[in-house]
Amino acid sequence: MNWRLIVAALLLAMPAAAQPISVLTYHRFDPAQANASTIVTTPVFAAQMDWLQTHHVQVLRLRDVVDIVDHKAPPVTEPAVAITADDGWRTVYTQMFPIIRKLNLPVTLFINPPTIGHGGAYLTWAQIDEMRASGLVDIEAHTQSHPNFNDQRAQLTPAAYTAFMDREIAGSRADLLAHGDSGAWLAWPYGINNPALHDAASRAGFRAAFALGSRPVLADSPLFALPRYQVYNTDTAPRFAAIVAGQPRH
Ligand SMILES: [Zn+2]
Repeated sequence: MNWRLIVAALLLAMPAAAQPISVLTYHRFDPAQANASTIVTTPVFAAQMDWLQTHHVQVLRLRDVVDIVDHKAPPVTEPAVAITADDGWRTVYTQMFPIIRKLNLPVTLFINPPTIGHGGAYLTWAQIDEMRASGLVDIEAHTQSHPNFNDQRAQLTPAAYTAFMDREIAGSRADLLAHGDSGAWLAWPYGINNPALHDAASRAGFRAAFALGSRPVLADSPLFALPRYQVYNTDTAPRFAAIVAGQPRH
């Protein structure tokens, strides 16, 4: 038998290599100026989304990413990302939403429920309802008051800190469930997380939680500290391509 045929048959029988998945994190948008590290201008965001489409990068729903890590779905074999935006800024509605609606891209928003509906720079529930109704936008939890858990742990007694963690984490889930959202995922404020926080999130009923860390989600990533990339306004084509490819930031 021809050994070349044997090798070809073996290669065909092998599953394609699992791809890392880069979860992109945005915060605020501005039509023209990025005068803070958490702001990406609307033209840069539009160019990044165009880049994904031009390069046939699949944009997954966040729940699909968790299902892959949780071994409930097979790994992806083609380049893929997921898109998230934290803190519930109003510019998510005014700047980001028109672009993702035009391109039909799913996005998950991590919000602090008590800040919603108070006007100013934050989203209103009406804006959230409209985005959710598009079928493209999922709303998930980012705690109640966006605390720095390290600072709180240093200041509070152990019992008071445990109560604080539960109030912040379970409280945001309860508020989202009351609005008809899934209450399935949490994003850690400032990316701060540790085993006690993972336990609190699990106790509250979350299935997974997202941190930061500038590296891709892999099949063995920890379910309560899934890494994400913060995307900056300076992430134009080559830098953005490196993020999508799952390269660690230098
Ligand atoms: Zn945040």
